[in-house]
Amino acid sequence: MNLSALPAFADNYIWMLHDGTQAVVVDPGDAAPVLQALNAQGLQLAGILVTHHHPDHVGGVDTLRAHLQGPVWGPARENIPKPFEPLHDGDVVTVLGRRFQVIDVPGHTAGHIAYFELDDDAEPLLFCGDTLFSAGCGRLFEGTPAQMHHSLSRLAALPGGTRVCCTHEYTLSNLKFAVAVEPGNPELAQYQARCTALRAQGLATLPSQIALERQINPFLRCEVPEVVTAARAHGAANDDAVTVLATLREWKNRYR
Ligand SMILES: [Zn+2]
Ligand SMILES: [Zn+2]
Repeated sequence: MNLSALPAFADNYIWMLHDGTQAVVVDPGDAAPVLQALNAQGLQLAGILVTHHHPDHVGGVDTLRAHLQGPVWGPARENIPKPFEPLHDGDVVTVLGRRFQVIDVPGHTAGHIAYFELDDDAEPLLFCGDTLFSAGCGRLFEGTPAQMHHSLSRLAALPGGTRVCCTHEYTLSNLKFAVAVEPGNPELAQYQARCTALRAQGLATLPSQIALERQINPFLRCEVPEVVTAARAHGAANDDAVTVLATLREWKNRYR
């Protein structure tokens, strides 16, 4: 199975999975890069997976329908272009012979879902949209810090080898903030050097890995003493993980 990240807009990736004949894409905000990739590689579009309703994730869906020989799957609780197969937490969808489990991850939007691959024990795929980014997390447009904390905790509990396919190339700016939170974290410094080199060559920093994110992503580390201390210095009223996450998120919103 081949996985690629099709660049779209300024910093989106449309993830494409294909077996040499058929392809599925995740969150096609724009149809053009998808059609170009399908044509270039002689692939049929067998399905579309959607994580949430934002235009940069669904904008290409209706154009792609003319080329689609399969369903559009999406979150049951969100308003995405119809018709689509509505999915709930725990549902399993089979794409290209692989099973993906649906995980509810509200926070960025109210009905955001993620797709976790069940048929690969070593390096399963996770398509997590705008919930978990490398070294960061999505903004809280519709959900609460408690919801985002719960959603991120569910993703952080996935196997360490899980390949994290997020929708945006935000890694370097997230890392700048992560270093401000945890200046003494050696894994963070190493990862920042690696990602800076990748971006200098025009390469994607993604997919990331759950085991790595647990080490470097401040939003998955709200119980780590250094992260708690940094949050307390930026207004957190107590050491509670949800309070810490809320404080980090607001600090990050202002951080340049
Ligand atoms: Zn979004
Ligand atoms: Zn987005």
